[in-house]
Amino acid sequence: MQDATKILSVRERVCARENDFLSPYAMKSADTKGRVREEKSCDFRTDFQRDRDRIIYSNSFKRLKNKTQVFFSPLGDHYITRLTHTLDVSQIARSIARTLDLNEDLAEAIALGHDLGHTPFGHVGERVLASLSEHGFYHNEQSLRVVDYIEKDGRGLNLTYEVRDGILQHKSSGSPATLEGQAVSLADRIAYINHDIEDAIRAGILKETDLPQSAVAVLGSETKTRINTAIADIYQTSYQKGVVRMSDRVMNATNELREFMFERVYELANKSIQERSKRMLTQMFEYFTANIDKLPKMYLRLLEKDGKERVVCDYLSGMTDRYAIGVFENLFIPSTFSLGGNS
Ligand code: MG
Repeated sequence: MQDATKILSVRERVCARENDFLSPYAMKSADTKGRVREEKSCDFRTDFQRDRDRIIYSNSFKRLKNKTQVFFSPLGDHYITRLTHTLDVSQIARSIARTLDLNEDLAEAIALGHDLGHTPFGHVGERVLASLSEHGFYHNEQSLRVVDYIEKDGRGLNLTYEVRDGILQHKSSGSPATLEGQAVSLADRIAYINHDIEDAIRAGILKETDLPQSAVAVLGSETKTRINTAIADIYQTSYQKGVVRMSDRVMNATNELREFMFERVYELANKSIQERSKRMLTQMFEYFTANIDKLPKMYLRLLEKDGKERVVCDYLSGMTDRYAIGVFENLFIPSTFSLGGNS
């Protein structure tokens, strides 16, 4: 009995620390709006810490390592994948949360879950599914769908309201309900602009001197400097304020780099791979919508509720690059003809 009291006090001590040390604008674990299905609290971990762990243990999280960010991953081991991007976002979001006395655990959970719904083959996958499905396709909505309806054989992860909100609202057009969600949204942009610049240089399609010098003058010429500049600027602009944002000067420079990357890299990177990925996903989408019974059973559970285009998108978007290629080959490429041992 005494032991149980001791164990219970771990979570209670964390919650008490949050009340003592976090900003009045931070989302305290004890104040969560909770889960759709009520659960008994954990003795050791706050609800946001539990959410982070559920995401890390999920199958969708494990698959991020074999999903392309921008550059098709098998071409080089040092390119960023969805997983390393997610870890970058988590690290930057936690740094922002720590400097602003926000809830680091909540920021971490949102960051680790924000891209769970991303397609194989990078953004081209998202564009293809969006153009094929009458419902459209947005990776942030899909990330929420993954944690709500797809993980754990359809039971979902039953995450807290605040983590779910942060995942759904992480795009720059979103409006997260918590400051931790705002921190993740900015961290996402800081992360991808900078690691994509590094990857583009690694791929030989960009030189550091190609970057717009007006943005470099504000943010710095090296990745580590640019990330530090952004975090320091967010700290100076947002500390003890009810919002997480950059100054106009740093935001404008960041946007300038982002636009530059769209023009020079995102549209051009792996052009032929993008074309082939598009054809593969399109053919598989057409095949599975016409042969819906060929989907793995767990996706069929949502068929009546959501219709076949959406469940086909669930299946296709959950695929890793290599799994997608394997399914495509099985469906459309004749395998070697074998006479077998008995003929
Ligand atoms: Mg992202």
